Amino acid sequence: MRTVTFRSSGRIVPVGKILCLGRNYAEHAREMLAETPETPVVFIKPATALLGDGGEITIPPVSKELHYEVEMVVLIGKEGKRIPASEAMNYVEGYGVGLDMTLRDVQADAKKKGLPWSVAKGFDTSAPVSAFVEKQAVADPHTLDISLKVNGITRQRSNTKNMIFRLDFVIAFLSGIFTLEPGDLIFTGTPEGVGPAVAGNVLEAELESVGILIVRVR
Ligand code: MG
Repeated sequence: MRTVTFRSSGRIVPVGKILCLGRNYAEHAREMLAETPETPVVFIKPATALLGDGGEITIPPVSKELHYEVEMVVLIGKEGKRIPASEAMNYVEGYGVGLDMTLRDVQADAKKKGLPWSVAKGFDTSAPVSAFVEKQAVADPHTLDISLKVNGITRQRSNTKNMIFRLDFVIAFLSGIFTLEPGDLIFTGTPEGVGPAVAGNVLEAELESVGILIVRVR
C-alpha cells in the first residue's frame, strides 16, 4: 500500500514522502534520556514503509527489538515551499493516526556510532496509518486525546496539546527544507510510554476525532 484513504468518502490519495518528527513531546524526550530539541528533529520514511489498517508488521532480521510510537499524522493537500506559519494550516488536507514503528536496538546502535536512522525507522511496515478524516472533522488538532493499547492494555496516553512544536510551525519549518506536495504525510512525534511489541501483539492506536488503527505484529 502506498496510498491513504479517506474514511467517509473512500477517496484514495497516493503518498509521496513521509516526514517524521522526533522528540516532539517533552515527556518522551525525557524517557529517552534525550534533550528537548530547540528545533525539530526530522527524519524520513519511504512510502514503501506504509501499512494499512488491519495489516501485519514484519520485523526485519537485522533487529530483535521493535518499539511502538503512536503519533498524529497530517496529510498535506497542496504544494508549497517556504510556507509562512500564518498560512500553514491551509496546506493540511486531513488527519490520521499512525505508528512510528522503530527498531530500537538498531536505532540505539546508530545513535552511538553517529549513523543515520534509515534502517531503524524506514523498514517495510514501519509506518502503519489509519483511514484519514478531512481537516474539517477536526476542530482543533492541538486538543486531541491520543492513546495506544497493546493486547487491550493502555501503554501510551496523552493529548496533542503536549506537542512541543505546533503544526503551523512544523509545516513552515519543514517547507523551508523540503517542497511539500499533495500526498505527503507528517508524523508529528510520540508522547511518553513507548515500549516493545513482539510477535502476535495487537496494537490499537486511537486519536480523538480521527478514529482507530489496529495492526498486528507478525
Ligand atoms: Mg516517533
